[in-house]
Formats: sequence, structure tokens, C-alpha cells
Amino acid sequence: MYDMHKPLPESFGAGQSAAGSNADRDDARHDDQISRRRLLGCAGLGAGLFGLAQHAGQVEADTQSRAEVPRRESIKITKLETFVLKNSWVFVKVSTNVGIVGWGEMLKDRSTTCAAGAKQVEPYLLGKDPRRVVHHWQAIYRHAFYRGGPVLTSVVSGIDQALWDIKGKALGVPVYEMLGGPTRNKIRVYGGQGDAEKGIVNAFKIGIRAGGRGAHRYVENPAFVGEVTENFAKLRESLGPKVDIGIDFHGAVQPQTALLLIKALEPYQPLFYEEPVQCQNVDVLADLAGKTHIPIATGERVFTKWGFREILEKKAASILQPDVCYAGGITELRLIAGMAEAHYVPLAPHNPQGPCSLAASCQVAASIPNFMIQEGGARSHADLLKVPFKQQNGFLPLPTGPGLGIEIDEDKLLAQVGPPSKYPETYDSEDGSVVDW
Ligand SMILES: [Mg+2]
Repeated sequence: MYDMHKPLPESFGAGQSAAGSNADRDDARHDDQISRRRLLGCAGLGAGLFGLAQHAGQVEADTQSRAEVPRRESIKITKLETFVLKNSWVFVKVSTNVGIVGWGEMLKDRSTTCAAGAKQVEPYLLGKDPRRVVHHWQAIYRHAFYRGGPVLTSVVSGIDQALWDIKGKALGVPVYEMLGGPTRNKIRVYGGQGDAEKGIVNAFKIGIRAGGRGAHRYVENPAFVGEVTENFAKLRESLGPKVDIGIDFHGAVQPQTALLLIKALEPYQPLFYEEPVQCQNVDVLADLAGKTHIPIATGERVFTKWGFREILEKKAASILQPDVCYAGGITELRLIAGMAEAHYVPLAPHNPQGPCSLAASCQVAASIPNFMIQEGGARSHADLLKVPFKQQNGFLPLPTGPGLGIEIDEDKLLAQVGPPSKYPETYDSEDGSVVDW
């Protein structure tokens, strides 16, 4: 496995690294190209250092020419494919002429729409160098003319992950190494209540429920608020004060009731209040945030740096939860993290989805200074990966494989392709009006 603490071996970057990308294992042409680049790259540090004196003359000439006009080995995108699974997760796979493939994930709510959107980008990508990740992000996003929205940002997010995956595999390093190296030794994760009760994690979150009903009314009565509070108090008492318990309002509570619940639950110090209201009106969220000392978390329905700019400027949240599959990919989460750092705000990336989502999130977590905790980190994704994730004591180890650090098992994936599951339709049990879920 790739070890960041060890000196680079001579075979570094030669395609036999780490978790053993199956994409590049048999491709002699790729190995030849990478070896040539390694040779030239080593020359920049001094050919003698690597025992390449016999090539020094040629290497020096190449290095001088590369110093002015860097030449890059030819890697070109040859194909973009999408896969919609029965559980509505949607994957994008980008192939290249050197056998390296990259994987990404997009928004499950509009899986078939995102798949079609990604295919619309394929003509732009064909024949291009996948390693110009930020350049392609800009082109896909800005050439759309009508910008933003979850479908476009999901398309750019999935492709962004796949391109980072390819770039890392080409260089033989995890993505976080290209983003400045690891900022921590392991990645804290949270799971569900069951995970915490089994002692697998010491952080989780729950929803707002009382009597099996959501907080649908504009103003819930004392019985409802009391039941929600009592349930949380029991949970706090049974698990103790050292377990972090977030509460997810899921944007399904009206502001009038949200404030009642926020105040009633404060004595039990939840880890955060997540999406206490929808954040389409950021001023309303900011107003609630100003009335409690418990951190407000939001972000799963906010997209790109432009969306998070308003959240930060209006102090509407003190924990950001961008989703690497919707908010703009690894490229954009890095930028959002930088903006957040200037407001003393950490990231707790949202993740209800699959292995690319978790892997890409881990690459961000490993490379930013203001990472807090990762959602969905207790899942192994053994049904889609050759080597499943394995968290220990509430932490995932830093990924060591190249690119995203995972290997999709295509046989397992293809077995799950099918019509995507429908999302719930929710109505008020008393009058039948549409309610949030
Ligand atoms: Mg949520």
C-alpha cells in the first residue's frame, strides 16, 4: 500500500500502487508512459539521486525543454458511461486511452436526469486530457449558461470526482496528496443510532418524531414538543454526555415550530440542529441561528461556493454540510472549506449515498484543516467494492489507494442496475395537504 510516510520508491507512480487499480494493472502502454514521466520528473530533483546518471544527458535536455513548455504524456478521455442503480444511486465512469478509468457519483433524487445530463457533457470531454480537472469544472459549469441547480451541479460533481480519480491513478497517489497532503491521521465518522448503541461509533443523529408523526403543523402543541424533548432526554440519559447526538429537522419543520423545538432541546446539548428549516430563505435560517447557542448545520441542499457564500455571510449556520455529489465535487468542497475556515466554520460533509460519495468525501476530509465529522462513514459498501470500507472506533483510516482510493466491483454494480426507486410522497394525515419529509 502507498505509505505517505515512506520515501518514494523507484517504482512510484508506475501503476502498481496501493489498492491496485484494476484499470491500470494490465496496460503496458500506460506503464511505459508513466515510467517516462517518472524519469523526467526525477530529473527535476537531480538524476543522480535516483541512479539515472546514464540517462542524464537526455534527461537534462528534456527537463530544460519542459521548464518552458511543459509537455505531458497523452492521456485522453475516450468514453463516459452512467449507471443508475435500483436504489437510485447514479454513477458516472470516465474511461481513457491509457486504460485508467475514473468513477464518480451524482444526485440520487434525479438519477436518470443526472445520467442524461452527464451524457450531454460527453462530447465536450471526448479527446480531452482528464487531468485538467479545474479547467473542465469551469467549462462544464460556465458553458451551461443557465447555471446552478442540483442537476447541473451534480453532473459537474460526478465528473469532477471521476477526473480526480483518474489524475490520482495516473500519478499513483491519493487525491489528498495532490491537495497539499494529509491534514489528519484518520477521519471521524458518524452513523445511525443503532451504530452508537452497538458502540461502533460515538456520534450519530436522529430525526424529529413524536408518535410516529413529523412536525407538519405550523405551530405544534405542547404535547408534541414535550414528546420530542422527552424522547431526546431519554436518549441523552441512556447514552451519556460523551456521545455526540445531532438532530436533523430535515427542513421539514416550519420556522414557528422549529424555534419551539430548538429552545426545548437546548438543555440536552445536541451536537447540532441540522436543517431546522428549508434554507431557500437564508435570512429565516440566520434568524433562528441567532436565537440559540447550539450550532446550526446546513448544506445538503446548497450548491457551489455561491450558495455557501450567502450562508456564511449571513451567519445562518456554523457547521456546513456540502455534499460532494451535489455541491460541485472535490474541487468545490475544497473551495467551500476555505471560505468556511475564514468564518471559523467546519465541514461535516453530507453523505447518504454510495462508495464514491464516501471516498471523495474522505479525500476532502483528509486534505482540509476544518473538517469536523463525516456522515455515512460507518457503511462498508461491500456490495459495490472489491475492498470494503472498514471504520474502527468511530474513525476511518486515511485512504491509501490512488485516486479516490477505492475499486468499484463492476460485476457487483451491474447486478444492481435497474429502474430507480421512487421517492416518497408525503401528505398531512389530517387534511391531505403536501408536507415536507
Ligand atoms: Mg440532513
